[in-house]
Amino acid sequence: MSNRPKNVVILGSTGSIGQSTLDVIRGTDSLFAYALTAHSRLAEAALQCQEFSPHWFVGTCEEAFSARESLPFPSETEVLIGSQNVRQVVQDDAVDIVVSAIVGAAGLYGTIAALEAGKQVALANKESLVMAGHLVMRLVNEKGGTILPVDSEHSAIFQAKLAGKEKEIKKIWLTASGGPFLRRTREHMASVTVAEALAHPTWEMGRKISIDSATMMNKALEIIEAKWLFGLQADQIGVVVHPQSIVHSLVEFVDGSVIAQLSPPDMRLPIQFALNYPDRKTAVAETFDWQQAMHLDFEPPDLDRFPALGLGFEVAKVGGSSGAVLNAANEVAVSAFLDEAMSFADIVPACRSVLEQHNFETDPTLEQLIELDRWARQEVLRWTR
Ligand code: NDP
Ligand code: MG
Repeated sequence: MSNRPKNVVILGSTGSIGQSTLDVIRGTDSLFAYALTAHSRLAEAALQCQEFSPHWFVGTCEEAFSARESLPFPSETEVLIGSQNVRQVVQDDAVDIVVSAIVGAAGLYGTIAALEAGKQVALANKESLVMAGHLVMRLVNEKGGTILPVDSEHSAIFQAKLAGKEKEIKKIWLTASGGPFLRRTREHMASVTVAEALAHPTWEMGRKISIDSATMMNKALEIIEAKWLFGLQADQIGVVVHPQSIVHSLVEFVDGSVIAQLSPPDMRLPIQFALNYPDRKTAVAETFDWQQAMHLDFEPPDLDRFPALGLGFEVAKVGGSSGAVLNAANEVAVSAFLDEAMSFADIVPACRSVLEQHNFETDPTLEQLIELDRWARQEVLRWTR
């Protein structure tokens, strides 16, 4: 690549990660927002295009578009309608890095399309690895692309790993804030409201991942994500609760040394790290004042009150089709909870039940995963009221 800025595609530019990515791009001349995609928030997307003048914009939801044809997209941006256009855009020869930041299973296709073309992917969409980790990592190996983690824990592990050799890693420890219900009793979990579950104590995020954080399903998905990303066995991954969300994760080496990455809870840092890797650039995110007193607390997670964690370890261990089924069941359960059609306390048992009933495949194809995803979405609806 010459001295021109890196061409960045942001899949899901209107979301929480998408907006933070644009914030990072706003703060530098070395990155160019080459293409953006959005689903329903087209007015916001048009404003983003006015500010960043990307070459392409893809509106992935055709229905949303037809209702709003008069949106003020700038003339220098070519507007494409329909999710099938994502492939063409991410595989464009001029693209250097793709930020995969669509929420849920819908994010898988963009991740795969980018990796098929051997691109660098800054991966926020953990669901890609949860659903199809074996296929995604196979593509990385076959086509020579790379995945740079955006998820803060995985970015921390990626950074801490640089302190030693691959074979010297004994275990990684994913930190978890514990979410808004860290101290709630089991009895009180049943009466959790949507507003309470969305109120995360340390992070501002999209709605789906906020609920996943409240059930700790987010950590379950991250265990599975870490297994694939770093090529680990399930028993090499641990979870430790750290309510301040300052230590983003830790790597324990065979000699007992533990290396951690610390920063204030702000997603712009792991995004910036992924976009500039292997370089580091001056911070756009908040930094610490080390002259101020600060406490860092750590405690083991409560697997009884947060049964999602057990599910995460089980799925990481058995692999195969179980990640796709867990992910699909969870997506629908979360959406039902947000619509007040399922109780908070039922989300994880519903996922376990669907997982236990499914026809397990050890090495599923993408087609089999899509079929199981469809089946699991249907099956979990039995738990709605
Ligand atoms: P948001 O809900 O804030 O944003 C989701 C984005 O995806 C939006 O741009 C949305 O478009 C788009 N989108 C939604 N549905 C579809 C669809 N069916 N097809 C195409 N695009 C779609 O989510 P977040 O930014 O919070 O999360 C994005 C991903 O990053 C998730 O996988 C999450 O787990 C992961 N992540 C997020 C973190 C965070 O801090 N937010 C931290 C770590 C990981 P529109 O808004 O226009 O409808
Ligand atoms: Mg995370």
